[in-house]
Amino acid sequence: MDNDVNALTLGEWTFGQARGLRHVAMVAVGTSIGGGLILNGALVRGDRGYGGEVGHTTVDLDGPDCVCGSRGCVKVYASGADIARQARSLLRADRTSILLELVGGDPNRIDAPQVFAAAAQGDPVAVTVVARAAQALGAGVGNLINLYNPELILLGGSVMEAGEILMEPVVRWARFYAFEAAFDRTRIVRSTLSKESSVQGAAALFLYERSRGRLG
Ligand SMILES: [Zn+2]
Repeated sequence: MDNDVNALTLGEWTFGQARGLRHVAMVAVGTSIGGGLILNGALVRGDRGYGGEVGHTTVDLDGPDCVCGSRGCVKVYASGADIARQARSLLRADRTSILLELVGGDPNRIDAPQVFAAAAQGDPVAVTVVARAAQALGAGVGNLINLYNPELILLGGSVMEAGEILMEPVVRWARFYAFEAAFDRTRIVRSTLSKESSVQGAAALFLYERSRGRLG
């Protein structure tokens, strides 16, 4: 069984920004975080389909528990759901945040786009959460570079729609955590594909499997 992100990765590889490349990684940051990985021109699924799941690699040994059973994963800092969760948590101690105004005083209504909007206005709670998300995601990207030395890393998913406020510090932290020589040769760009491109992804997956003789 294939995850959506493998299909998106193949979509970028077949029709999009990763065409013609041999080593490509995708990190899709949405409500959760998914990964896709192409090495030596082949999709890496691993033995049980967990290959490339950078969102569930540990970036903090004693960090918060994760749904995967581990703790301190990239996901618990950088997924959309976790960005909102961290903001809600910090708001318990800081009732002056403009985030509270944005959600009409109800912290349960906070979502990731509101956190980015508040961060853009310099709100300390939101700035703290975005900084932590960017550092965790940057560490995950740096780990991808050191593990696989890809030519291209695609960052996609709804959370990346925040734009430069997230992209810039993620790239900066990736540079910090990765081998310099490997980082310098890795392009890190936003993926233009989304869940709405799932038809492209499904088509790419079909073409990929057929090219490997797994489909009749
Ligand atoms: Zn996890």
